[in-house]
Amino acid sequence: MNIPLIKPYIDQGIKDKVLEVLESGYLTEGPVTREFEQRLQNYLGCRHTLAVTSATTGLEVALRALTIGPGDEVIVPDYTYPATASVVPIVGATAVIVDVNRDSMLIDYDAIEAAITEKTKAIIPVSLFGSPLDYERLNKIKNQYGLYIIEDAACSIGAEYNDEKIGNQADITVFSLHPRKFITTGEGGIITTANPDWANWMNSYKHFGMAMDKTAREGVQFTIIGTNYKLSNIQAAVGLGQVKHIDKLLANRIELAGNYLRLLANIRGVTLPRVINNGRHSYQSFCVFIDNRDSIMTEMRGKGIEVQIGTYALHTHKAFKHHPLVRMAGAMSNSKWCFDHALALPLYYGLTMDQQKLIVNELSSVYARINNN
Ligand SMILES: *Cc1c(COP(=O)(O)O)cnc(C)c1O
Repeated sequence: MNIPLIKPYIDQGIKDKVLEVLESGYLTEGPVTREFEQRLQNYLGCRHTLAVTSATTGLEVALRALTIGPGDEVIVPDYTYPATASVVPIVGATAVIVDVNRDSMLIDYDAIEAAITEKTKAIIPVSLFGSPLDYERLNKIKNQYGLYIIEDAACSIGAEYNDEKIGNQADITVFSLHPRKFITTGEGGIITTANPDWANWMNSYKHFGMAMDKTAREGVQFTIIGTNYKLSNIQAAVGLGQVKHIDKLLANRIELAGNYLRLLANIRGVTLPRVINNGRHSYQSFCVFIDNRDSIMTEMRGKGIEVQIGTYALHTHKAFKHHPLVRMAGAMSNSKWCFDHALALPLYYGLTMDQQKLIVNELSSVYARINNN
């Protein structure tokens, strides 16, 4: 038996489309990328949608669009993938790391307020695993202190807040298209914003700083120093075939998560993360909290069930401990607790109810054995 943690959705239509792109000879960013962006934009219901090479480069572009750099501070949570924080020193600003809430695993709003200084320019909250944030609270903080919100929504395609898709709440939102995420292009990212000036700037920056200019000799002008964060037609073809089935795929994830919630309800030793009532979790990862997580993870993997930690506690990592452009604001005890207790269970299109029952039964018996010793 072997149950993987995730499995990207690749059907014949996707294979055909990739082949079509290969045979067209048009491999770099182009019409397929545009169609992919447009489809996602329609799905998300947002104004501007830009494909980039990853969520990490997307977050970097977002910071640059808001002219955040040396001397500025940006608040990020401790319990997240390192990229959320790394992009801040990458643009020369200081990452101020704060603790999370232990029940939701999401950034602690009181800790944000406590960490704000005159230098604070933005917050990068993370809708971790597809769990929507409390945008009402975030907007209050944003308005009170005059900050920007860049949402690291790497995990959150399909999640909702008050019946509106994530991608419309923050100033700029960034999604990931890594294969661990719900929709994948192999590597890739999507930026959304309602602000046309930022969208134009970001579009130019990812295209070498190029701007269309009919009066210029080649029809273009390079107006800013830019870089190359384009998403190729080949990658977009992979994503396009998934976006076409996005409603079916998301409904399936939510159904599978619902099965887990029912099956796990009375399992000794398992607690479930708290989610907000007016949101819809997209379950990029389905995580539980459990004692002796590491031993349980090892045993489960030994049985062919690929479980995984939730994510990382940045304060325990060398890169963030000693960096001159990183400041720890607080003790991070909740983040450490989440790091020690969160366990992600397999969740992908095609996972069966029998497999889910088996996973939960194994989890239950492994827990009982380990905790009786
Ligand atoms: C996956 C992930 C990232 C990185 O996304 P890439 O597209 O691989 O750069 C950043 N933040 C969070 C919260 C993630 O889960």
